[in-house]
Order: sequence, then C-alpha cells, then structure tokens
Amino acid sequence: MSFQVLGLDAKILRAVSEAGYTEPTPIQTAAIPPIIAGHDLIGIAQTGTGKTAAFTLPILTKLAALPPNPRRGTKVLVIAPTRELVVQIEENIKAYAKHLPLTVSTVFGGVGEQPQIRALRSGTDVVVACPGRLLDLMGQRAADFSQLKHLVLDEADRMLDMGFLPSIRRIVQALPKQRQTLMFSATLSKEIESLTHEFQRAPKVVQIGRRANPAETVTQFVYEVPKHLKTSLLLHLLQDPQMDMVLIFSRMKHAADRLARQLEQKGVRCATLHSNRSQNQRLKALKDFKDGAVRVLVATDIAARGIDVDGISHVVNYDFPMHVEDYIHRIGRTGRANQIGDAISFVTNEDNAELRALERFIGRGIVRKKAEGFNYTAAAPPYNPAEEGRHFSQPRNQSRPQRPQHQGGQPRQEQSGQRRWRR
Ligand code: AMP
Repeated sequence: MSFQVLGLDAKILRAVSEAGYTEPTPIQTAAIPPIIAGHDLIGIAQTGTGKTAAFTLPILTKLAALPPNPRRGTKVLVIAPTRELVVQIEENIKAYAKHLPLTVSTVFGGVGEQPQIRALRSGTDVVVACPGRLLDLMGQRAADFSQLKHLVLDEADRMLDMGFLPSIRRIVQALPKQRQTLMFSATLSKEIESLTHEFQRAPKVVQIGRRANPAETVTQFVYEVPKHLKTSLLLHLLQDPQMDMVLIFSRMKHAADRLARQLEQKGVRCATLHSNRSQNQRLKALKDFKDGAVRVLVATDIAARGIDVDGISHVVNYDFPMHVEDYIHRIGRTGRANQIGDAISFVTNEDNAELRALERFIGRGIVRKKAEGFNYTAAAPPYNPAEEGRHFSQPRNQSRPQRPQHQGGQPRQEQSGQRRWRR
C-alpha cells in the first residue's frame, strides 16, 4: 500500500516522502480515508503506531482544499495531556505542513502566557494545547474558535486519568457544533466510549491490533531482585554497552532525582523528567537525551507520557508500574517506528501481585532473567566516591556492538535512511 492511494494532497505527499516514510502504517491506512470523507473517528492504536500522522495528514489535506480566502481564525484544535506531547505533535504537524501556508502554535502551562495569547489572537490555523492552560486563555477571551472545523483529542484515556474531563467538557462546549471530532486512545474503555457519545456523531471506529497489547517490536524481560539491590542491579546491567539510550521509570519524583544522582555518582550521564521540573528543564532533559548528551533519562509516568524519541534501546521499569496501562505506555517508548527495543522490569516481592495482573492482562508470561555475574545475596553496597566515573562513562555509539536481529520475524532494523513499517 502506498500513501498515493489515500487521497492526500500532493504537497503533503511531498512532505511525507521527505520525512522518509515509504508506506502508511496500519492506523494511517485505516484512518486517513474516513477522516478525509469527513467522518468522526475513534482511533484505538498502540503507542508508536504513527497515529499523529494518521490524524494530521487528512486534516491538512482538508485545510489545503479550503477556498483561498477563508475567514481568518483557528480551524484545527488538537488537545493532548502533556506539554511534551503538545510540542511533539506541533513538530510533526509543522513537518507535514511544511509546503503549505499554515501557521501552527502551542498552548501549555509553565511558560509565559503572552506569546500564546498573541498567537491565538492572530488566528493561528492550528492550535495544539494542554487543556488547563487552554481553558485559562479561553477565559481571557484570547481564543476565537468560531471558525473551528476539526477537533482532535489525543491520548484521551490519559486525559481522563489525569482528571482533565471537566476542563475538556468546558472547552468542547465553547466550540462550534458543526465540526469533525477525532479521538485517539491506546485503550477503549467504557469511559472513552461514553465520551464519544458526548462529543462525537456516529464515529467510525478504527482499531489496530488487540486492545492494549504491548508494542510488538519490544522484547520484555523481568528481573526478580531484592528491593535494596535494585540500583546495584541497574548499574550492573548498564555495563552492557548495548544499553546506549535508556529510559528509566521511577514511581516518585524525589526517587527519580535520587536515582539519577546515584547513577551520576557512578559516572552514568543522566537527565530527569518529572512534573516538579520547570518547563525549560524538561525540554532540556529531553533534548540532551535525544542528542546523546546523556545516556539515561529517569522519568515518572506522567512526564514521560507520549514521549516520541527515536532509538530508545531500553526501557527499564525500575519501579514496577501500578497499572497495566502505565506498563503498556512505558514500554511503548521503545520499539517505535519499527525499531527493536527491550523492556526490562525489576520485580521485588512487593510487586508480585501487579506482575501477575499484568501477565493475565497481556495473556502471557514475561520471561524471567538473571543477570550474569550479579550477586543477588549481597547487602546494598555503600556509596564509594573513589569509584566515580568507572565503567560507565563511554559516550553513546562508541564501541556499541551490533544488536542481534530478532528471531522468527521480519527484519526490524531501519533500511538505509528509509523508514519502513513492519506488517
Ligand atoms: P506516533 O505513534 O504518532 O507517536 O508515531 C511514532 C513514530 O512513527 C514517529 O517517530 C513518526 O515519525 C513515525 N512514523 C509515523 N508514520 C510513519 C510511517 N508511515 N513510516 C515510518 N515511520 C512513521
């Protein structure tokens, strides 16, 4: 299947080909034609399946087809739960719209309001926003949505989890009734279904894969470990140079900071991402991680939601997630866009019930692994500043051995500069 048959505008096809995409992903193949036809849609797709392009490409095609002098004003509103996701969606939209005369701007908290107010007042074509700040600015009459044609609620399940429903209701009530509403979610729960009745009209449902199935390009392992040895085990595993871009999940913000400090003391370059950090600190942490200036990013669930960073080699659940949905979102940060990735979970005695619940949910057991050469009976080692910098300081990509191909499936490595989707 090629992008050409989906009915997309020629300028958008050009941008897609410049992005290196050779064929649409399954969610794109399924969602683009009904969106172009004007239907409301619920897209149920795992993380990393290409869902941002699945809604952006057809919406941009519709904007490109508008008459040359339509009334100025925002025509597309995309709402997403976190600032990081908003920035990422904006980057994607700008890339796909690069040959169109459209303006895109973002609205989220933690930064000054004035530039956002100016952008909204200028009638920017596409607004990508977090619900809280958007509602504030709408309260100040900064936004004019009278010309709005398309509304997208991305990561709708997480927006509900984060308690955004009242804000979203108030935002949606202020929008024109005549509009197209698209909703994307990793899981289709009863709550999501009831939201669709509230906000959508006869939506088409597009569901890729089983509901809430962990990304299939990710190999999952469990390490059973006494609680006091988790950091030692992590340091032991980090001696493997294949772990060259590692996203580590911690349940609590202060524990994330502490872990990052401990890793830094051992010479592992780290950044942290959680909601106590300022917006600039969060953006810098992500940039350093993307650029390879740090090898490890320690994050909490909410901050890491929706992060799209290419090439994450490993996700480590340092703290086992409380909810299966969090597990699925966490491990979906690796194995994106057809790359391979490993998800490692540390499981202590206290986590056994959650592990069993997860295995029941995904319908299979997760392989138990033992770290070779690691002393599982040791007492926690005291911190020794003299060891600082040993073993772990080699920069990314130096002496990284070739990762083995996965067995039994199609090759998952990207091909010479082109990005192919695995069927
Ligand atoms: P998303 O699910 O929207 O977060 O997208 C995950 C990743 O897939 C992003 O890095 C996109 O750039 C990439 N992507 C989206 N569509 C395609 C495609 N058709 N072929 C290859 N990569 C894609």
